[in-house]
Amino acid sequence: MTSSFSPGQFAQLRAGVVGIDHEVPLLDGSTVPYVNLDNAATTPPLREVVEAIEHFLPYYSSVHRGSGFKSRLSTVVYDQAHEIMGRFVGADPDTNTVIFGKNTTEAINKLSYRLNLAPDAVVLTTQMEHHSNDLPWRDRANVVHVRSTPDGMLDEADFDRLLARHSPHVALVAVTAASNVSGFVQPIHRLARKAHQAGAMILVDAAQLVAHRSLDMRPDDDPEHIDFVALSGHKMYAPFGTGALIGPQQVFLRDGPEYSGGGTVDIVTLDEVHWTGLPDREESGSPNIIGAVAMAAAAQSLMALGMANISAHEDELIAYTLRRLQSIPEIKVYGSSDPHRSGEKVGVVPFNVAGLSHFLVAAILGYEHGIGVRNGCFCAHPYVVHLLDLSEREQQLWRKQAVDGDKTSLPGMVRASLGCYNNEEDIDRLAESLQMIAGGEYRGDYVVHQPSGDYIPASYDERFADFFLLRPYEPTTEVGHGACGN
Ligand code: PMP
Repeated sequence: MTSSFSPGQFAQLRAGVVGIDHEVPLLDGSTVPYVNLDNAATTPPLREVVEAIEHFLPYYSSVHRGSGFKSRLSTVVYDQAHEIMGRFVGADPDTNTVIFGKNTTEAINKLSYRLNLAPDAVVLTTQMEHHSNDLPWRDRANVVHVRSTPDGMLDEADFDRLLARHSPHVALVAVTAASNVSGFVQPIHRLARKAHQAGAMILVDAAQLVAHRSLDMRPDDDPEHIDFVALSGHKMYAPFGTGALIGPQQVFLRDGPEYSGGGTVDIVTLDEVHWTGLPDREESGSPNIIGAVAMAAAAQSLMALGMANISAHEDELIAYTLRRLQSIPEIKVYGSSDPHRSGEKVGVVPFNVAGLSHFLVAAILGYEHGIGVRNGCFCAHPYVVHLLDLSEREQQLWRKQAVDGDKTSLPGMVRASLGCYNNEEDIDRLAESLQMIAGGEYRGDYVVHQPSGDYIPASYDERFADFFLLRPYEPTTEVGHGACGN
């Protein structure tokens, strides 16, 4: 494969992914190295991220409130993590703040709360959003969805129409930078210009973008600058429980914080509260310092690898994936299946195999080939239903069944999603497995689990304990209260 990484660099990159060589069990009792094609859900940690945490852990202590050396060092490191994440997305540090939280979902919910929108405010979002950039707005504003073209791209003419129709009430344009279903990348800067011209701000859900392409919020006085960015560490090789919301300080200095309590105040009397500065006042309670260190270390690793190198490598791999899948007549790829258009997407490839349930295909890939993918609607029901082109009757039928506790006919797709460390051999294994599945070659006797729709091989022992399980709870046999008695 020709790519922006030399073979040596790429081998080093692969070796730097924790668990890359780990074998997993198959239905026939053998084991194979796991192929992870579920990076859109979550990515494995980079070894550099784990090493950063290990180096930091002996110094780990409370931030901002402790007087000891470890607290002072932890405070500086935690501040650095904010600064690195701001730099990673090109935020102006003088006017923006980086607020750490759990993940993208929490970041968007926080913003939905903190924007304090007027009752007649409109949030213009799209049909292709993850539920995390749709549902939080529904309680707080009049949400208008821009539709997608039949192949799943943003219908920008509809965007223009709706923006004009609802202006001047559009307070926010909330769009995903890249779809977690089709991988399509949005023209976020062009949308930003249009949003600003209409007097609105723009939020970019960057959960699916930042591990694959560079993101630059651009200076505040640039008409195409991005106002808010939300992202998750676990989708950028730092799965240690941290995400971030980045945006203008002035927005978060208005009113009190989302959650009040320890760490958010300068002075408290029995009658008065003086809120402290940013980002502390929006990061109530003791923060996840380890998660922040991990996320910043991951951002540094990605910057060192070079986002342009990563996206060049992934573009080639997407084109290769599409070519391999196209050669299997039973496979239908949704969104764009044209390898020449791979540059329009990040590495998310949704597909179905003719005549087989997406639940079954995903199960066979997992149980019989050691390949991790995801299937279903990917927390983006309206978009998946649109891509599948389901009739209203079909939609009503499965919704009723699902509400009644039977998810077996839930529509959906299988999703293969790439990370920067995947290679052609991974895709070959996927394509060869799918070729067999499409030809009816699989050995498992699968039983459908009605409440989830999942296919599970009959009488199969997962043998998790041979790989990893927490020690079972064993009640202590010691009697008495020991030193803590009384
Ligand atoms: N937005 C997009 C585009 C996503 O893909 C996801 C996760 N699948 C989210 C938001 C939510 O991310 P998290 O689960 O980390 O909050």
